[in-house]
Order: sequence, then C-alpha cells, then structure tokens
Amino acid sequence: MTWTTRTVSRMMVALTVAILIGSFVLVRPAGGQSSGESEAGLPPLIGDLLRGRTVILDPGHGGFDPGARGREAIESEINLAIALKLRTWFQMAGAHVLMTWDSPSDIEAGRKYRVRDRLSWINQQRADLLIDIHCNSGASAYRGPQTFYWSGAASYHLARAVQEELQYFTHTRREVKRIDQYVLRYAHMPAINVEVGFITNPEEERRLMDSRYQQDLTWYIFIGTERWLLKGRWPAELLDAPPPTDLLIRD
Ligand SMILES: [Zn+2]
Repeated sequence: MTWTTRTVSRMMVALTVAILIGSFVLVRPAGGQSSGESEAGLPPLIGDLLRGRTVILDPGHGGFDPGARGREAIESEINLAIALKLRTWFQMAGAHVLMTWDSPSDIEAGRKYRVRDRLSWINQQRADLLIDIHCNSGASAYRGPQTFYWSGAASYHLARAVQEELQYFTHTRREVKRIDQYVLRYAHMPAINVEVGFITNPEEERRLMDSRYQQDLTWYIFIGTERWLLKGRWPAELLDAPPPTDLLIRD
C-alpha cells in the first residue's frame, strides 16, 4: 500500500487512541476519575474528544421485529451484540453512552417498539451524536459495510470517517450514501446508520456472528468517530509523521 496522508492520519489516530485507552484502563482508579492524559505524554485534546459527550447507540429492530435474516443469523441479535461492543469503546474514552435498548427483554418490555417512539426518545436525550447499527441484505454476492446519512455536513463527515475505517478494515469499497431513513431524517443531532455487512452473504454472515470480528469492527467505527472529532484539531506535523513500524504488520 502507499502511505497517503489519509492512511498516515488514520494510523496515528488509531495508535494514539489505543495508547490513550490503554493508559486510561491502567491508571484509572476504580470508580474514580482518570489521573490525566499528560501522564501518557499525549496531546491533551485527544483525551477530551469524547469525555462528557453523550453518544446514542441504536441497534436496529428488536422485540417483535427481528430485521433481516441470514441462514442462521437474526439481524436484531447481531445489531445488539455489535452495539454493546461499540458501547465499551466509547465508555473507555469517557463518553456517556445511551442505548435505545440493550437486552432482548428491554425492548420486549419497553416503550420503544415503534420507530416513532424510538425517535422521540432519542431526541429527548440531547445527545452529541447518534449511531444506528444495522445489517444489510441483498444478493448473496453483495458484501461489505456501508455507512449512510441523511443530511448536514456533520453527519456526512462522520459517515465518511467511519466508512473509510470500515473500508480499510474489510478491504471493501462501498461508499457513503444518503438514505431517507426515518430516524436519520428526524434526529436532532449528527446521525449515521452503519450497515455493518450483508447478513445475506454466507461468508459475511459467518464473520458477523463471530465475537472477535464484531469487536474489531466496532474498534474501527469508534476510531472513525474519533477521527471525525479530531478534524482540523490535530497538529499537521503529527499527521505527516511516518507511521510507527509496529503498525506496518496490519497490511
Ligand atoms: Zn435493519
């Protein structure tokens, strides 16, 4: 691969966030505040990007609505498993994470059956961003994650940053697209829908059911979000620095 500025930028953000999260977990006293980013020798703004921000994760479907089906997989179950893993990354970075539902019993008992009710709950939370998680479906040869937005520069750039990470992770080439989807259209905050892959592609279905794959995939969604927040706030000399050699093994 060639080292484009974007590639280097992505690497640097991923590495720095990884170090931050590592130091966060190591130095954070139980139940207390982090002892500060300066100990990790990082630019202080990195640690502040998500701290105190409210992120809503919305696993698509749930309850009586299973969503799409693969040979074995049920979309709502995969959406929930992935959203729960994504929640962990955001929480590690200090974000306040809300989920529209976080267990099968939650939605069965809850008031968020209907997409309209779900949206009104979302808009009451005054969140900084919304990430919907879905699985795509189509012809069995279709594959690859794809990130959608409805309108607004913030949603577009968030979708771009996440999709670039997912392209990198999966070696696929689907591009960001606009979609007229009820939740995206009426959400009062930057909002994207990440279709994490095609449940109707047997190979991708198998991966989507794999816990390790889910974890890796959510890392890249998380890093894309960090990169979106970093836009324009990162010193140019750091973006232009050569990538650390220990990251070269990725390709
Ligand atoms: Zn869906």
